[in-house]
Amino acid sequence: MILSTHAIVGGAIASLFPSHPVAVAAAGFASHFAIDAIPHWDYPLRSISLGPGSRNEFRLDRARLRDLTLIGFDAFAGMALAVYLFATPATVTVILLGAFAAMLPDPLQFVHNLSPRGPLNWLQRFHLWIHTDRKLDWQIGVSSQIAFAMAVIGVVAELR
Ligand SMILES: [Zn+2]
Repeated sequence: MILSTHAIVGGAIASLFPSHPVAVAAAGFASHFAIDAIPHWDYPLRSISLGPGSRNEFRLDRARLRDLTLIGFDAFAGMALAVYLFATPATVTVILLGAFAAMLPDPLQFVHNLSPRGPLNWLQRFHLWIHTDRKLDWQIGVSSQIAFAMAVIGVVAELR
C-alpha cells in the first residue's frame, strides 16, 4: 500500500489506545504487513526498486530525486492526515508514532537494499512473502485504497 494509507491505519490504531506508546508502535508496525497482504496498487518508482534481488546504491540523479519527492510527499501527507483525523492536542505525539511505525517497514526495505544483513534480511523475506502478488490497475487500485482508508476511519470512529 502507499505510505499515506499505512499512516492512516497506524494513526487509527494509535487512537484506540493512545496511552500505550509501546503497544502503538508494535501494532502500527505489524499493521503494515497485514494490509500489504491485501491486493492493492502502488505508484511506480523510477529509480528505487525493492523487489527480490534488487540493489540500490547511494546516488542522486533526476529519477532518484523525483522518487524521493513523491515518497516524501506521500509520507508527509499520511502523517498530516493521521493527525487531522485522529489526534487531540494530547495525543498528537502518539498518533505520529503510530503513523511512523506503520510506514517504517518500507524505508527499512530500502535500508536492507543498501545493507542486507542481520534482522533486516529476515524482515525483508517476511515483507516480500506477505506482500500480495496481485497488482491492481491504478484506477481500481486508487479508488479501492481510498475506500479502504475511509472504512478504517469509519470503524475506528465506531470503536472509540
Ligand atoms: Zn510494504
